[in-house]
Amino acid sequence: MKKTWIDKDLCIGCMACVEMDETDTLFMDEDGFAEAKDNDLELKECQMVCPTSAVKIKE
Ligand code: SF4
Repeated sequence: MKKTWIDKDLCIGCMACVEMDETDTLFMDEDGFAEAKDNDLELKECQMVCPTSAVKIKE
C-alpha cells in the first residue's frame, strides 16, 4: 500500500518532489519519472512543490 503515490500520467520528471523528500520515499524511476516506495506517509511538502499535481495522498 502507498499512501503518498505518484500519478505517472501527470508527472513531467522535474525531480522537485524527490529533492524535497527527506524520507527517501520518493525516487526517480528508470524512465525519468517520480515513483514512491511503499509508505504510510503524508508527504505534503512534496505534494506542494509538484508543478503538475502529480503527487497524490490517499485519505
Ligand atoms: S514534482 Fe511532480 S512533476 Fe516533478 S518529478 Fe515529482 S511528481 Fe513528477
